[in-house]
Amino acid sequence: RALDLDAFRDPALARELIERIAGIVGDRPIKLMEVCGTHTMSIGRYGFRSILPKSLQLLSGPGCPVCVTANRDIDHAIALARLDGACIATFGDMVRVPGSTSSLAAEKSAGADVRIVYSPLDAVDLAARNPELQVIFMGVGFETTAPLIAASIVAASERGLSNFSVLCLHKTTPAALRAIAGDPACAVDGFILPGHVSTITGTAPFRFLVDEFATPGVVTGFEPVDILEGIALLAEMVVDGTPRIANAYRRGARDGGNPVARQLCARVFEPADATWRGLGALPASGLRIRDDFAAFDAARRFPVDIEPTREPRGCRCGDVLRGVMAPSACPLFGRACTPEHPVGPCMVSSEGSCAAYFRYR
Ligand code: SF4
Repeated sequence: RALDLDAFRDPALARELIERIAGIVGDRPIKLMEVCGTHTMSIGRYGFRSILPKSLQLLSGPGCPVCVTANRDIDHAIALARLDGACIATFGDMVRVPGSTSSLAAEKSAGADVRIVYSPLDAVDLAARNPELQVIFMGVGFETTAPLIAASIVAASERGLSNFSVLCLHKTTPAALRAIAGDPACAVDGFILPGHVSTITGTAPFRFLVDEFATPGVVTGFEPVDILEGIALLAEMVVDGTPRIANAYRRGARDGGNPVARQLCARVFEPADATWRGLGALPASGLRIRDDFAAFDAARRFPVDIEPTREPRGCRCGDVLRGVMAPSACPLFGRACTPEHPVGPCMVSSEGSCAAYFRYR
């Protein structure tokens, strides 16, 4: 049965919540971070930054998977794309993100086999149909997409495919939030937690925000009323000094998350250190393919030389992803860097903060 979302888009209810937030916040400076790129897009689309009290700052966080992928990892995918007989399959946005000196799109123009797929299972089918190709799926994403990648590896194993593998660049969100919560330069008062990720993880992995940093978090959905309700709850907790982790997205995320999806991930992946754009190397913040499935790990199967890393000149994506700089404060924003000619990943991705600010400015 289709879910009726009208109540979550009700303008009268939204107005009521905006007034409630204004009453709670008053002139008090409060910084909230929306962790998820989809929240960033919704906040831009509904113009919340200009409607809500001036003293309430909404910062965009590290929740766009394409944006937080480090340049070295993009260069790794590019090096794999240059192998004879290799076919790189990935999601659309990733293809346009510039690496140190190239991009997957540039490699495709130069003759490499780079294909956009909508699901990793499509990449498994591609491998099954083309035994002469080594199909390498560039796996980028958070806890939401990790179960799909795990399912694709199990499927490839069960189908006996020897020409499918994954460059596993998956990341897990709590480690990034720990880095931000502990960074005085970020000074975030509360987190709008990602609804999609929480569908898998549940709320427990975010409890450390309260226990270690006395910082509240609210899991919210993506409709205007969802987001405003989350902001109102967070503002209340900040003003009253009563931090907790609340779930305001019960129609999408259960407190316990999805244990079946987590079990599937635990079967295929184990925690590993990962490097995030903007946050650097964070312990146990990524996923590595377990030894049992090493035959499907492109990093182990195809050792390649990766070029020395160069960051895009003048790009401040790292600061944007930590919430210490608004996209519009980047000197390149809207000038040298636009969605048509992006300098950094935050302008490329459909979930990128710079793209959202540009689109809804
Ligand atoms: Fe990077 Fe462009 Fe964003 Fe500046 S506006 S931070 S150059 S993506």
